[in-house]
Amino acid sequence: MPPPSPPLRLLLDGDALVANWRWLDRASGRADCGAAVKADGYGLGAIEVTRRLIAAGCRDFFVATWAEAAALGRLPEGVSLSVLHGVRAEDMAAALESPARPVLDSAAMVARWKAHGRGRPCDVMVDTGMNRLGLSPEEARSGLLDGLAIETLMSHLACADEPENPMNERQLFTFRMLKGMIPARRYSLANSAGVCLGQRYAFGLTRPGLALYGGIPHADGAGARELRPVMAIEAQILQTRDIAAGTPVGYGATWAAPADTRVAILNIGYADGYLRMFGGGTGAARAGERRCPVAGRVSMDLLAVEIGDAPVGEGDWLRIDYDLAATAAATGLSQYELLTLPGRRYGRRWI
Ligand SMILES: *Cc1c(COP(=O)(O)O)cnc(C)c1O
Repeated sequence: MPPPSPPLRLLLDGDALVANWRWLDRASGRADCGAAVKADGYGLGAIEVTRRLIAAGCRDFFVATWAEAAALGRLPEGVSLSVLHGVRAEDMAAALESPARPVLDSAAMVARWKAHGRGRPCDVMVDTGMNRLGLSPEEARSGLLDGLAIETLMSHLACADEPENPMNERQLFTFRMLKGMIPARRYSLANSAGVCLGQRYAFGLTRPGLALYGGIPHADGAGARELRPVMAIEAQILQTRDIAAGTPVGYGATWAAPADTRVAILNIGYADGYLRMFGGGTGAARAGERRCPVAGRVSMDLLAVEIGDAPVGEGDWLRIDYDLAATAAATGLSQYELLTLPGRRYGRRWI
């Protein structure tokens, strides 16, 4: 017998995912638009996300590690997969077995691929100012890359979510210069926020992640009205209780009912990525349109919300307030964290 369905779930909107990719594809102009599906598709499920985007026409995918590449299984002919974290010594065997390409991030990785990569194509990351992964411009121009079959030369923007930040233009300038010196089949600079900066940043291939999943890179800028939410969270009511005025609820008895009311106990907690910072009324669930604020502290697997006289009871599902931009503003968490926080205990329902 299969285990019963979990009492909490992600509702995933496949049409919104595809619509977001199409918007990003248009915003990328003549460049191809790829998709970052690392971290299990930002928590939504990389296999399902990839399948839908391939059907929509996306041909370039990015994961962080070889384990993530393997987890995607065999991809159709003509679909390209890049492994952003490159090849460590212990990755070489898996890399040679896999149709995916490594993104070479350091001089040591370049040497490793030249020695053991059997002349196979690779991608290369150059650092244009973020100082995270990638060869320095000096290393990239030094002749180190001669002889590699470079499919995509890429760099990553550090401040693209701040359109006014002068760092964007500096990185663009440096990347253009490198493009003129290092032969590759394609060039790629822009993540989601980079796409929203305009087509000058698109080159031949863009690599959005966040915006595919409904994140808004620029609050009032490009995409803010067009990009649609993809993920919603619902949790099931395990119990409801009538609470008399003054009665405390939850750990620490930090909340007491201001008047006679009802609370619902939901099957979700901080072990499900619904962090304690949502306690004390910061977070809420919805019973229809009615806002049901979190009552007291968030437990590991449970949450109390005040439902008053809303017509809901045991077994019903309540939507958790989780608008990415609004929740990020309210909590100080990033939209990236909000997407990737929900863990493995959720059911996933594509609608
Ligand atoms: C994660 C990642 C992306 C996607 O970034 P978003 O901000 O989610 O659009 C693109 N490129 C690289 C190198 C990344 O690591």
